[in-house]
Amino acid sequence: MKIVAIANQKGGVAKTTTAINLAAGLAEVGRKVLVIDMDPQGNASTGFGVGLDQRSTTIYDLLLGEADPASVVVKTATERVHIMPSTTELSSSDIQLHNVNKRSFLLKDSLESASLKQFLFDYVLIDCPPSLNLLTVNALVAAHSVLIPLQSEFFALEGLSQLMLTIREIRETANSSLRVEGVLLTMHDQRNNLSQQVEKDARDTLGGLVYQTVIPRNVRLSEAPSYAIPALAYDSASKGSVAYRAFSREFLANNHDLPEELAHG
Ligand code: ADP
Ligand code: MG
Repeated sequence: MKIVAIANQKGGVAKTTTAINLAAGLAEVGRKVLVIDMDPQGNASTGFGVGLDQRSTTIYDLLLGEADPASVVVKTATERVHIMPSTTELSSSDIQLHNVNKRSFLLKDSLESASLKQFLFDYVLIDCPPSLNLLTVNALVAAHSVLIPLQSEFFALEGLSQLMLTIREIRETANSSLRVEGVLLTMHDQRNNLSQQVEKDARDTLGGLVYQTVIPRNVRLSEAPSYAIPALAYDSASKGSVAYRAFSREFLANNHDLPEELAHG
């Protein structure tokens, strides 16, 4: 079970869109995926069609030690994708957990629980909130690696250095094996000079950490959540879906997990 935190303290850079469509892309080739909605806004939960009536037990209850991990897992309409949903209640967790011992390890300890083993998840994708708070720290402590969506716009790289510092701090304290899974350029506009400049700067500075696949700006990606399904299902042939499918394959290849029949072609 590989655990990947999808993080960037900036809002609106496509963390949630990436969590949803990477999950769908991995599921398409047979992988079992658990998405963890660590954002009190609950956008990943909504994007997967998990209504409030299905969120009686959430990631909040899990972090507070009031729910067994398996009881928080909800099936989504996407085959092979499950989710641990969240609600706005999660926003009070910083305060609630302030005096809790080992409060950065709560998610990690939960994911190691025996009760999750029955699901046989191949990948866990943690959709982080837009800040470097205790929720994001829990995600980074629990994860094997961090996947960083980077919006193709000015100042994108500046925000990244703050995140890299946090990753280094976590490595030095709580999770020495935390890696950077990769940096994904999102909302890219091929005809826009600024987008091109950000891509060049990112590749020059970060080298091989930047995925070859770039996600274009595509309205289908922003429409899909209101239909409560991944873009991959909403409009499978759209430019956005094609890009996320290619990205899923690049992700799998990096993890030496690309199905043989997809490896050539
Ligand atoms: P985050 O989780 O980082 O805050 P979201 O995934 O919610 O970001 O994306 C922010 C907004 O941009 C959402 O409305 C989403 O639908 C939209 N969006 C994300 N990626 C794209 C894209 N490639 N093209 C067009 N819209 C996108
Ligand atoms: Mg989000």
